Amino acid sequence: PDVITVQELSNRMAVRGVDIIKFLMRQGVMLKINDVIDNDTAELVATEFGHTVRRVSDADVEEGFLAADDHDDHLEVRPPVVTIMGHVDHGKTSLLDALRSTDVVKGEAGGITQHIGAYQVRLQDGGRITFLDTPGHAAFSAMRARGANITDIVVLVVAADDGVKPQTAEAIQHAKAAGVPIIVAINKIDKPGADSTRVINELLQHELVAESLGGDIQTVEVSAKEKLGLDELIERIQLQAELMDLKANPDRTAEGVVIEAKLDKGRGAVATVLVKRGTLKRGDIVVAGAQFGRVRALLNERDEQLTEAGPSTPVEILGLDGAPSPGDAFAVVENDARARELTDYRQRVKRDKAAVGGAAAGVSLTDMMA
Ligand code: GDP
Ligand code: MG
Repeated sequence: PDVITVQELSNRMAVRGVDIIKFLMRQGVMLKINDVIDNDTAELVATEFGHTVRRVSDADVEEGFLAADDHDDHLEVRPPVVTIMGHVDHGKTSLLDALRSTDVVKGEAGGITQHIGAYQVRLQDGGRITFLDTPGHAAFSAMRARGANITDIVVLVVAADDGVKPQTAEAIQHAKAAGVPIIVAINKIDKPGADSTRVINELLQHELVAESLGGDIQTVEVSAKEKLGLDELIERIQLQAELMDLKANPDRTAEGVVIEAKLDKGRGAVATVLVKRGTLKRGDIVVAGAQFGRVRALLNERDEQLTEAGPSTPVEILGLDGAPSPGDAFAVVENDARARELTDYRQRVKRDKAAVGGAAAGVSLTDMMA
């Protein structure tokens, strides 16, 4: 349904509702403050009050971490972004928890304590790895479907006592379709029925040829429960990342993707974003999906306040006027006016999509007003 009201339009444009109503009356349109206003009329009003209505197509959102105008000498090595996939009960959540505990830096808050949808592990050698803490191929393909291809490496978890199962096969298909390299973590090797050779042979049927069979797929035996093989898994991820030569330009205004978002009673809209390029700073004006705001605080997975966050860094931001949806693009803009233009447009696109039945996930201002 089309649910922008005169009130919301007035909020969005920072124009008094009474001025909009007067303008509409002169056009022969009689609306009260809480009445719904259709898109064409809203666009007319926006234009009248000096807002340029700009089309932003999905194609404008660049995929990947590099922008077209990033030249080699702008680029710096960035941490890999890893998603864990695999069959239900094979140990995705357990492995994410175990990897969290490998972090070597215990901040004042005492290690990685917050669930913010993604976390970054800091390693002994100074390296970092970002894990998306939303396991499963549903989250992976939902992100991809929205043009947010943020995973560099998939860790495929296969339980050594259960072997390749339907969702294992699905995860392989998803990773292949996205062109993302796979590292296989053969989990639960502590269990009596564990058989890694069987897993490696079953993977062959899905054209994943392990290094031990002369192929190029790295496999690692792990136990999330007993915390075995985690260092080797991390080494393999780093090796794969080096091969991929992952880089981004930290020296530009930040852009990235929303991982998750919620409305918190005390803190307002809280969004976890992953910075793809540039450096996000406290005080920046950000457009995220159909929401915008000034970044009041940046928090990491240790609940520490940051002043800035560079490429591949997941960070919680406070200060948006509503919760954007997972997979939404975010970008820093130069000023409020530009932010309002973009959000007006995106709110409209979102409503149009909702009207044809493709309602987006998550809570937005429009949902709350409906
Ligand atoms: P998910 O559905 O893939 O997220 O799987 P979970 O992480 O929830 O694990 C499913 C079950 O397997 C839980 O009961 C875990 O305790 C158990 N599990 C996970 N990893 C291991 C492991 O390495 N060894 C053993 N013995 N059990 C494990
Ligand atoms: Mg799980």
